[in-house]
Amino acid sequence: MQLLEDHIRREGKVAAGNVLRVDGFLNHQIDVVLLTKLAEEFHARFSGEKVDKILTIEASGIGMACVAAQYFHCPVVFAKKSKTRNLSGEFYTTQVASFTHGIVNHVIVAKPYLNPEDRVLIIDDFLANGAALEGLIDLVQQAGATVVGAGIAVEKAFQPGGERIRAKGVRVESLARVKEMHEGEIVFC
Ligand code: 5GP
Repeated sequence: MQLLEDHIRREGKVAAGNVLRVDGFLNHQIDVVLLTKLAEEFHARFSGEKVDKILTIEASGIGMACVAAQYFHCPVVFAKKSKTRNLSGEFYTTQVASFTHGIVNHVIVAKPYLNPEDRVLIIDDFLANGAALEGLIDLVQQAGATVVGAGIAVEKAFQPGGERIRAKGVRVESLARVKEMHEGEIVFC
């Protein structure tokens, strides 16, 4: 999506450890007008799909998911990062290795918020090694619900997550796909 690529070229900063910083419009300060355009694009790409719920993970996916939900007319559920390990029973739980923080998070959704009849669209800001998306897919599957697909703002296509998850048959729609990035240069697919 040209508009998002332009924002990334203009404001994105390549940091150590293959991290693309987009704090100026997505991860710290939020450009809601831009998020509205991203939401319209997700809605167009998943038009024709019945979506009952949008699932994301705290914290940075929540803003995008909420704007998108206004187009899909559905609630947003965000998976929470929990310090407590033994929460089975009332919660669906999974583990997600954090790309940016280098730790493993226990991630939970309370059982009433994901149900077998739900068709779930997953939304997140970045796709890198795929741990976050795979964790969210796991939560949906534990609930017996259906993954409609995943809407991602920025996929770092030089990292393996996107390819691996598409190979499992999950529809992944990324609005900007970074082919390579170095200090001062970001190349899109
Ligand atoms: P993955 O689990 O696919 O390796 O990484 C996805 C998660 O890590 C996203 O939820 C996002 O918060 C974070 N992330 C991964 N790569 C980047 C990056 O280059 N920049 C930022 N800002 N976040 C990233």
